[in-house]
Amino acid sequence: MVSPMRQEDAGLVMSRVASVPHEAVQIQPRRHMTYGEKHRRWEECGRVCTICGEPCAPAGPFTIWDHRVPLALGGTNDLSNMEPNHTGECSALKTRRDVRAIAKAKRLIKKSLPDKPPSRLRSKPFSRVLRKKMDGTVVVRRDREV
Ligand SMILES: [Zn+2]
Repeated sequence: MVSPMRQEDAGLVMSRVASVPHEAVQIQPRRHMTYGEKHRRWEECGRVCTICGEPCAPAGPFTIWDHRVPLALGGTNDLSNMEPNHTGECSALKTRRDVRAIAKAKRLIKKSLPDKPPSRLRSKPFSRVLRKKMDGTVVVRRDREV
């Protein structure tokens, strides 16, 4: 069964992915796997969970199909990128790993983009050498005169 933690992490991944600039990463939409595809891929993966290496079912409440390379990191929906994992601890471990990798990718992408102009206006300080008199005329401060 999918634990509440997993749902939360998935939401976290999606929110992080959503804020990555579109031109930086093109994310494919998720694709449904048929039972036949799952069974074939499960056989190729040795009928085990690719996280812990213990036997798992090709489908059902204790198996989740994950993208080996997350879609957010340029992975595809190709069957060769799909792998069976146990729900619970195994998939939570993978999600934590993916979230970290996606966050790092986002940092690197952000770093590679041109700097944005400052978000708020900054005032320019008045000269320390000049002084503005009450009538508006600007004079050199007496103590700064050479
Ligand atoms: Zn496992």
